[in-house]
Amino acid sequence: MKPIPTFDYLNQYQNIRTQIQEAIQRVLTSGRLILGPEVEAFEAAFAQFLGESTPGVGVGNGTDALIVALMALFTPSKNDEIITVANAGIPVVSAIRSVGATPVFCDVDPATGLLDIEQLPKHLTPRTRAVVAVHLYGNVVDIPRIRGVIGDSDIPIIEDCAQAHGALLGDQSVGTLGDASAFSFYPTKNLGAYGDGGFCFSRNPEVTRAMGAIRMYGMDSSGQCVREGINSRLDEIQGAVLSVKLKHLPTWIKQRRTLASHYARHLHPKIQTFTTPANVTHGHHLQVIQVENPKGLQKELSAQGIATGIHYPIPVHRMKGYGFLGLPEGSLPETEKLCQKVLSLPLYPEMRLEEVERIALAVNKL
Ligand SMILES: *Cc1c(COP(=O)(O)O)cnc(C)c1O
Repeated sequence: MKPIPTFDYLNQYQNIRTQIQEAIQRVLTSGRLILGPEVEAFEAAFAQFLGESTPGVGVGNGTDALIVALMALFTPSKNDEIITVANAGIPVVSAIRSVGATPVFCDVDPATGLLDIEQLPKHLTPRTRAVVAVHLYGNVVDIPRIRGVIGDSDIPIIEDCAQAHGALLGDQSVGTLGDASAFSFYPTKNLGAYGDGGFCFSRNPEVTRAMGAIRMYGMDSSGQCVREGINSRLDEIQGAVLSVKLKHLPTWIKQRRTLASHYARHLHPKIQTFTTPANVTHGHHLQVIQVENPKGLQKELSAQGIATGIHYPIPVHRMKGYGFLGLPEGSLPETEKLCQKVLSLPLYPEMRLEEVERIALAVNKL
């Protein structure tokens, strides 16, 4: 039987090849490769996709988007702490370290896999400088509820939307709920470039202006450095590619939704999944199940030509590179339990319903 990968951009490329080639050709003959009209057009178009009229800021990748947003929202001092989760991969923690702060991990709610807002207060200290909430798998963290818990303090909330393009809380898009947000256009994401790309957004024009300066050495339009920055730009070719793909994004998300509902119908009720809160429209980036032995199941599915992923097998606080944080096993019980149970089944717009049935059948049997 035909193997089912976890991700297949070639299939999708065949459907949009002419538009993509035309867009790349346009850039190559324009004489402009960095920060020109293509990126500018995409920055407005993606903001519009989020339901907003003020543009965002294109950057080099999703991790840089987090760094740029963090740099725009706080002035580093000594012993800064930034609260986040440890089950969402390395990027957030890498970004927090890049701005010189220490990650403080809040455990997750086992029902949703998201930051457990009830446990947030015990992590707040006078050194807390920000909260980075990750909309993991396409599910949505209740940002207004976090704001309620933090109160009127000036602690900013940054949304990591790398896995949640198209997800909503009520009728409001992720990325517009907090003080600033970060998106990734890594090729596997709901909206993926043909290479790396990222995007920062804020509804606050001052924060947007700061992010725009920070992504290029902290320069303003006069070429003067007005604050410290980094260098992380979305390039014109990726901007043009992303503008083409953005037009298809609503359709692709709809297809993801249809496939996810098909999984829900065909996976046996004994197969545990995550809860989507009632007011959330899921972005369906990943189709994650919870099983006792994910690595074993992964092997058996692989033998049947079904590829799977594990997002993520090791919580960040238990990784060797973060040993210096000194967080022993047992510090985040729910996070640690989940990381031993999660398995991501294939989910991408070009999948066929029969393939979902074949996967569900194989999973149900095991
Ligand atoms: C992919 C991802 C990122 C980072 O994106 P890059 O573009 O790879 O830097 C950040 N956070 C989460 C949750 C992600 O899945």
